[in-house]
Amino acid sequence: MSPVDVAVLAVLAIAGGAAFVALQFVSAPYGRHARGGWGPTMPQWLGWMVMESPAVWMVAGVALCGPDGLSPGSLTLLALWQLHYVHRTFVYPLRQRAPHRPMPVIVAGLAFVFNLLNGLANGRQLGWRGGYGLDWLADPRFFVGVALFVVGELVNHHADHTLLSLRKPGDEGYRIPYGGAFRWVSCPNYLGELVAWAGWAVATWSPAGVMFFLFTAANLVPRAAQNHRWYRETFPDYPRERRALIPWMW
Ligand code: NDP
Repeated sequence: MSPVDVAVLAVLAIAGGAAFVALQFVSAPYGRHARGGWGPTMPQWLGWMVMESPAVWMVAGVALCGPDGLSPGSLTLLALWQLHYVHRTFVYPLRQRAPHRPMPVIVAGLAFVFNLLNGLANGRQLGWRGGYGLDWLADPRFFVGVALFVVGELVNHHADHTLLSLRKPGDEGYRIPYGGAFRWVSCPNYLGELVAWAGWAVATWSPAGVMFFLFTAANLVPRAAQNHRWYRETFPDYPRERRALIPWMW
């Protein structure tokens, strides 16, 4: 690994650790945990588009400029990545039912910087470091990783779709979601996201992939605990058997 790759991963590790510690004490102030006192805000649909966008252009730009960027394995992995992030950046924000809810600029800004660095790390992995040739497409790590990625994406999309369908147009209230993996956990969208990026780490077999998974967990595990607590406090009839993130366990 070049010193730049090491430095980027080190910054992500430190930032992920700091985020995990901070999120034990405060919830990120967007969505149901939005509140004042976090400086200037922007509509959350715009915040999502801005903060996720580097994951689209940074990864593609860096990967495709590399010597391995056009090799079959790299292109296949890049296509999987873009499938997730083109949807997350340009489709998901416009499907939200309360798109004008304020998101602090600081939240979108920090996530933007994360996606910039994470995009650089994973783009470097795909185009410059991985050497994912045709043979990688027959490697068991690729198969297992892609299978995990697809399962995670399906769980994540189904859960997001269920949540977005809870509101009629113009409605900004919250309800108890049912069905799918909501039978077992309060945050199947986060569970699916984590499984998908665990799959990415396996399919790329890379430090950048592992770091991305760990950073995602540092964000989403505390958020799942906060959402679960919020559901229990908000709805007296919330299903008692439902866990936060891991079915039957936690
Ligand atoms: P939430 O579950 O908090 O919200 C998802 C959407 O559903 C929002 O539009 C929200 O509205 C709405 N919603 C949620 N719960 C209810 C409910 N009970 N009743 C009615 N509407 C509801 O997810 P996040 O916003 O935190 O995340 C969105 C996506 O982004 C997820 O798929 C997540 O996995 C992914 N993500 C990935 C991260 C990563 O590090 N890779 C980090 C953060 C998110 P409102 O906004 O008004 O609350």
